[in-house]
Amino acid sequence: MTPAEKLRVVSWSGGKDSTATIILAHEHGIPLDLIVMGLLWFDKKRGIYAEHPEHLEWVKNYAKPLFESWGYKVELVDSKRDYMNYFYQVRQESQYPEYVGKYYGWLIGGMCKMSGEKPAAVKAYLKSLNTETEEYIGIGIDEPERLERLRKQKGKISLLERFGKTTADAREICRPYGLISPNYEITSRGGCWFCPNQKTKEHAYLKVNHPEYWDELLKLDAAENTIQRCFSYSKTFSEIAAEVDEYIAHPPPPPPEQLSIFDYM
Ligand code: SF4
Repeated sequence: MTPAEKLRVVSWSGGKDSTATIILAHEHGIPLDLIVMGLLWFDKKRGIYAEHPEHLEWVKNYAKPLFESWGYKVELVDSKRDYMNYFYQVRQESQYPEYVGKYYGWLIGGMCKMSGEKPAAVKAYLKSLNTETEEYIGIGIDEPERLERLRKQKGKISLLERFGKTTADAREICRPYGLISPNYEITSRGGCWFCPNQKTKEHAYLKVNHPEYWDELLKLDAAENTIQRCFSYSKTFSEIAAEVDEYIAHPPPPPPEQLSIFDYM
């Protein structure tokens, strides 16, 4: 790349659409200078990521090495603030005097303040390179409104659109390479293991498969002096935990061809 050229970048989420974008570039000989992924944290001090461990393992030990074997540079960049920062942030002012001096507590479902951390980490990293970029974004031809918005943004291109692929096609592009994240087995939408927007079966998956993370949530629920006491919308963590226990004790019957209680909606 000469200094006058733009850096060709894929901002990789690990989802099928951005992963398929990388594969399309690889298969069609489209040069990529950088693949960059932002990673969220639960507790940086203790080395606990916000990503599901299965997903992180797949990213670090399978997908990243595979992309590197194709000659691509892959950077994983950390978000600035972790969940602990948000949970234990002390409220300095409020129209409700009783809130001042207390911890914020649980992040609110649908208004999660952490959701901007990942794009901010990627943006800050790209800015630090001090180079113009051309970004390949994973948007399929079945997403006309998103494509329309993308066309208005300078330096952003969809390779799925260029090759006439839908978001369903993206999954099939990923499949032969083993590049479908285990997140798709665990959650319907990806995201953090403590996300309040998850379904009961997804919380149940965490409790059964990662009890040490579930214990982290129990500890937060026991924290005193917090403002936001509801874990998921209007439900407290205790209420969600009771639903999870009920789900684990009495799981709905799985469809005949599937064996796991976590394999169906
Ligand atoms: S996945 Fe959930 S908890 Fe994580 S940043 Fe997004 S909204 Fe927040």
